[in-house]
Amino acid sequence: MIVTAKIEKLENGKLVLKPDVDISRFLAQKRPRRVEVRLDDGRTISADQRRKIFAIIRDISLWSGQEPEELRLYLEWDFCSRCLREWFSLSNCDMTTAREFITYLIQFCFHWGVPTKDSLLTQTDDIGKYLYLCLENRRCAICNQPAEVHHVDRVGMGRDREAIVHVGLNAIALCRRHHEEAHRREKALFADYHIYGIELDRHLCKVLSLNQKPKGEVERGE
Ligand SMILES: [Zn+2]
Ligand SMILES: [Zn+2]
Repeated sequence: MIVTAKIEKLENGKLVLKPDVDISRFLAQKRPRRVEVRLDDGRTISADQRRKIFAIIRDISLWSGQEPEELRLYLEWDFCSRCLREWFSLSNCDMTTAREFITYLIQFCFHWGVPTKDSLLTQTDDIGKYLYLCLENRRCAICNQPAEVHHVDRVGMGRDREAIVHVGLNAIALCRRHHEEAHRREKALFADYHIYGIELDRHLCKVLSLNQKPKGEVERGE
């Protein structure tokens, strides 16, 4: 069950909420012990966020042949059902929801190989998540072409690339052309596009087939 509520007060670290609908029956029957609270930052979707959403949906529509309006409703529904969130409206949802929906749309384009008019770098509203998705889907962070992994912390300078532990190193996905450019003028290139290397986690190392631990090391849990 998903409900919205008004924050009554925060006292000694305890949050008192007043649900907008009566949930007493649900509480009596199901006796839930825990809740998830998503805090609305109070700021509503910006015109810029709305423009980005419509631009990406237009690209998906041209690719799939579906009517943009119909497609938007389907994508919103899919987004809500995946994140188990209540239905929202693009006219008055909060900024966080809009930001997450844009990230969802970018992920959709990468997953299905949707060709977009502009690089999704210009559409993202969450650069950190975008750079992560670029690595996960091997797409150039600048132009979205198929990419290679560029290590921002240089690997291979005297160290054995095969044996190195990649988790925790900073990397970015770049196509061949932009990768070569990064080796010539990394700082300037990153500044031009406002991009940077992000920390590789275990999931990224796995999907990118990067060595996660030195050969012969014993697994010690997490
Ligand atoms: Zn590129
Ligand atoms: Zn490189």
